Amino acid sequence: MKRILVTGGAGFIGSHLCERLIREGNRVICLDNFLTGRKEYITHLIGNKLFELVEHDIMYSYPMDHVDEIYHLACPASPVHYQRDPIKTMKISVLGSYNALGMAKRHDAKILLASTSEIYGDPLVHPQPEHYWGNVNTIGPRSCYDEGKRCAETLFMDYYRQEKVRIKIVRIFNTYGPGMLPDDGRVISNFILQALQNQDITIYGDGSQTRSFQYIDDLIEALLKMMRTDESFIGPVNIGNPREFTIKELAERIVALSDSSSKLVYKPLPVDDPKQRQPDITLAREILDWEPAIRLDEGLTKMIRFFREQLQQESIEANISLGL
Ligand code: NAD
Ligand code: UDP
Repeated sequence: MKRILVTGGAGFIGSHLCERLIREGNRVICLDNFLTGRKEYITHLIGNKLFELVEHDIMYSYPMDHVDEIYHLACPASPVHYQRDPIKTMKISVLGSYNALGMAKRHDAKILLASTSEIYGDPLVHPQPEHYWGNVNTIGPRSCYDEGKRCAETLFMDYYRQEKVRIKIVRIFNTYGPGMLPDDGRVISNFILQALQNQDITIYGDGSQTRSFQYIDDLIEALLKMMRTDESFIGPVNIGNPREFTIKELAERIVALSDSSSKLVYKPLPVDDPKQRQPDITLAREILDWEPAIRLDEGLTKMIRFFREQLQQESIEANISLGL
């Protein structure tokens, strides 16, 4: 039985990962300071003898008993969250990776970095293969996250070359699924919540910018496969769904699938918002024998059901508190 540390384990991706690792019979230590994660994400795991929660800020080192593997996810990921305190975002990305790598070195543990498609910035090469170095603004409002993750990748590579730490780097493209928080701020959760409440759907810009969305279960499968690869394969490897949609198409699909009367409204495009994004997943197909299985409509339907139930639950609770 392995002891596996998941930093950021109380977040959207982390909570799904902890659940899956426990289901496979591992002991899981979830380290999180609840900056953007929530206890509700992991309440169902608390009490499970294979699960341990450590409330700690990864910016500071933590003395831990032996672990065999580390999935390093701790970092705010939604633009709304990571731009709230950009200095902190950069510190989490850099100091957090430094501390996680220190733990990996002490325990001779394998360590996987949750990097991001954002390291390609506003890409000039399309779709993006791993050998593309990107087009990132170093001084814009997204830079704290983009450059923070680029620095994290550099640290991982230097610990690999200099300290022989066994690393894996995964570049995750836009991921969605049940468990995203209503205040997450990313596009799919925003649009679904707006659609279910028949509110205006807020498209930033003219909606012609593109993204490629992958369902959470596909990502978790790939993370596990990556961790199990031979030591010589360190990545970076793109993990995402190569089907590309404009944001306007996404809005129209969500309105149709949720049977909503919402109207599309247009708001200013955030600074440095990438115009296009699509992963080249040739490497993941070849080395991990992986490709996404869940189509957008299928994933959106599951997510709409999840948020509908959440809204019904909230309205029941509100009625109870009003004595109705
Ligand atoms: P999330 O915000 O839901 O989860 C991040 C978790 O990290 C939260 O539980 C948060 O409380 C925790 N955290 C943040 N700072 C911390 C700190 N200093 N110490 C300890 N814990 C801390 O985001 P997510 O979508 O689950 O993303 C997880 C990881 O995957 C992030 O590293 C993100 O950059 C990466 N990623 C996600 C996506 C995506 O589409 N979801 C895409 C690319 C990369
Ligand atoms: N977006 C939008 N409306 C929203 C939230 C996001 O039009 O309510 C757009 C955003 O400008 C971007 C895309 O949707 O072009 C994806 O945004 P998200 O924050 O989900 O992730 P990003 O890929 O930008 O990190």
